[in-house]
Amino acid sequence: MPELPEVETVRLQLKSKIVGKTISSVEVFHDKSIKGDNNIEDRLRNKTISNIDRIGKLMIFSFVGEDDLFLLAHLKMTGQFFFVDREGGIAGGGHSVAATDLNLPGRHTRVTIHLKDRTSLHFNDMRIFGYLKLTNKKGLEVAKARFGPEPIHPEFDSEWFYEKLKKRKAPIKAVLLDQTFIAGLGNIYVDEALWRAKVKPTRRSDKVTKKEAVALATASGDVMRESIAVGGTTFQHFKDTDGRKGNFTQHLKVFGKQEQACERCGNAIKKIRVAGRGTHYCSRCQK
Ligand SMILES: [Zn+2]
Repeated sequence: MPELPEVETVRLQLKSKIVGKTISSVEVFHDKSIKGDNNIEDRLRNKTISNIDRIGKLMIFSFVGEDDLFLLAHLKMTGQFFFVDREGGIAGGGHSVAATDLNLPGRHTRVTIHLKDRTSLHFNDMRIFGYLKLTNKKGLEVAKARFGPEPIHPEFDSEWFYEKLKKRKAPIKAVLLDQTFIAGLGNIYVDEALWRAKVKPTRRSDKVTKKEAVALATASGDVMRESIAVGGTTFQHFKDTDGRKGNFTQHLKVFGKQEQACERCGNAIKKIRVAGRGTHYCSRCQK
């Protein structure tokens, strides 16, 4: 599943490629991917993309001269966005990319947005949990209200974070995964942030000290920023149009490292289940 650093990487790539471009037509290959809104083709035709924003893992497209029309896009489990330029160069990503995903449009392409300069944007989604959805200003506000503040944001308030943690009794990992509490941390990055902050995933949220809360806020932001800087964890199979072949996988310290030695103390990394998710941690240096 694409996590926030992957979504942010895709967003930044698409933004650099398609802002200012005008949509000529929209081809829908699967109705579920547009939530059955068949007006999407008519409403997007001749619209010029002015920005791509993001909150949590939700991408928000806006359009020149349209302050009451937005396109929301969510990759969910298996979504991918690929921009194809006139020479066939590809940018984008999302869910782990296989070579066959790059024949576009392909078997899993659900929507293709054709741009007037003969470039195109393809939305692939094998499992069809993701979507593209038109909304208005009010709908956008409702969507945004579902997300808590983001630790990746430079102004994230660790004081607020600590006070809120004190009110929750669930395991700290479950609390960090709750997107309405704080947005953006998925399974991989929660494990990594907890390891960096030396906090055990099963620790009760209200037992986290202030010092640990500050360390956790910092670690959460850092681990995602570092991942974004190298393009996330899912670009193993191709170079994007900027020649980047990003991969944060090699920088992971605990996720997927069960039975391997902890880099900090040498103890074997354990894998357990917390909040229904595979959870990796060091039982010696995470308290
Ligand atoms: Zn350790």
